[in-house]
Amino acid sequence: MKVKAYACVDCHTTFQHPLSRGRPPIRCPKCRHNPDPLRRKAVRSAPALTVLPTAAERVAEAAGHAEPVLALVQAELSSAGTLETSTGAIAVSLARLLDAGGHTASSAASLARELRATMAQACKDEEASDALDTMAQRWRDRRKADGA
Ligand SMILES: [Zn+2]
Repeated sequence: MKVKAYACVDCHTTFQHPLSRGRPPIRCPKCRHNPDPLRRKAVRSAPALTVLPTAAERVAEAAGHAEPVLALVQAELSSAGTLETSTGAIAVSLARLLDAGGHTASSAASLARELRATMAQACKDEEASDALDTMAQRWRDRRKADGA
């Protein structure tokens, strides 16, 4: 019978297992028969990003950025001048979450939607503060014109 070497997901040792048509084994015979609940729990509860690189991380590695969404969001916010606002801070946190990965498709989608909405808000905030600046400037001009 043909055997193949597999790596155990729990103890990371390689073990031989007969090559079969079924699902390949993920645990060595020792771990399969003596499951270590603590280790298994640790493996299961570890955040996905420490286990596998996310698609975003792989793209980032290629692009030379560890956090591609965050980098872009920060760049956009600082050019809009809203990086230091509460809306900007929310956008940055959302971008970090997106970059961290380990989401289901639907939670990644809702994160992305929320980030887009926040970015739209951040740009609106900037317009609003521009408008306020303009109004304040007009007010100052008028006061000056009224004859100080
Ligand atoms: Zn094992």
